[in-house]
Amino acid sequence: MTPNVPAPGERVKATFVSLARNQDLWELVKSIRNVEDKFNKKYQYDWVFLNDVEFDDNFKEVTTALVSGTTKYGLIPKEHWSFPEWIDKEKAAFTRESMREKNIIYGDSISYRHMCRFESGFFYRHPLLAEYEYYWRVEPSIELYCDINYDIFKFMKDNKKQYGFTISLYEYLGTIESLWDTTKEFIAAHPKYLPEDNFMDFISDDKGENYNLCHFWSNFEIGKLDLWRGEAYSKYFDHLDKAGGFFYERWGDAPVHSIGASLFLPKDAIHYFADVGYFHNPFSNCPTDKTVREANKCTCDPRKNFAWHGYSCTPRYYKVKGEKRPPGWEDGTD
Ligand code: GDP
Ligand code: MN
Repeated sequence: MTPNVPAPGERVKATFVSLARNQDLWELVKSIRNVEDKFNKKYQYDWVFLNDVEFDDNFKEVTTALVSGTTKYGLIPKEHWSFPEWIDKEKAAFTRESMREKNIIYGDSISYRHMCRFESGFFYRHPLLAEYEYYWRVEPSIELYCDINYDIFKFMKDNKKQYGFTISLYEYLGTIESLWDTTKEFIAAHPKYLPEDNFMDFISDDKGENYNLCHFWSNFEIGKLDLWRGEAYSKYFDHLDKAGGFFYERWGDAPVHSIGASLFLPKDAIHYFADVGYFHNPFSNCPTDKTVREANKCTCDPRKNFAWHGYSCTPRYYKVKGEKRPPGWEDGTD
């Protein structure tokens, strides 16, 4: 055992989770190697892989060789990756065609919609995740820029954090036109699910009348699984799923998770990882604090940090939380 591995009593029940296709293998391999080198080789957390078809032997062999913890491979049940019976498939096809004409990204894709619905409402119910308390979502083709020299899952638990992100931005209205009205119906029917100190002001500028389109970019998420498994979010997801917007529009798991976390969590349970250097095309999170970059051997250019750009919602995050911006933030605004 390497000295950094926490003693058994300290270890958090946590896993990485990657949804991927067999053909995503070599892009995912880059992400895994990055996460292992910069964090997981010291902690050896497990890694769960999920797919709507069976993973092939090559995928399993290559990924198992790279992960320092135990790897597990799960098949997604059909009901979690298909049209529910209440969806009118003709109406759904009509939307895809009109989004294709409008050049909305993934607007004509059926599989992307299944992916968004699965990540919104089903990944945390997969039997392979049942034994875990926290997860970190990792996608193909991502990069970590800095070493992470602490047990990030233990950080979540010790500080009562339930949702952690690195990048936040505005959603394309064209993909979620009725999401907020559908959400407002839910809030009106179940006001008891919103704690007093929720994070509504992050997602709305007028106390919930309108959605301001801010969301956490869900290709990176470190979260507590009970947030999604709990009654509030479960009922919220069912309400959204019945409304059909995953198919009649193109609701993304990022705005759905972000709205869920912002409404149902106390704001202190949401955390911005300013210290985690991260890239998913086309945006980066790069610590602007030089001491953080040097201590963690970051390889990113702080001027490429997206956090303080005009299209980022992270300035609003700081404002609503009443937190002080990290040192050097002005360097990352060009
Ligand atoms: P983007 O980041 O929004 O451009 O979407 P990605 O192409 O990165 O897809 C998001 C995640 O879902 C990634 O982890 C993909 O590997 C995974 N994914 C996307 N489509 C499918 C699919 O049809 N089947 C499976 N098994 N995974 C998928
Ligand atoms: Mn991606």
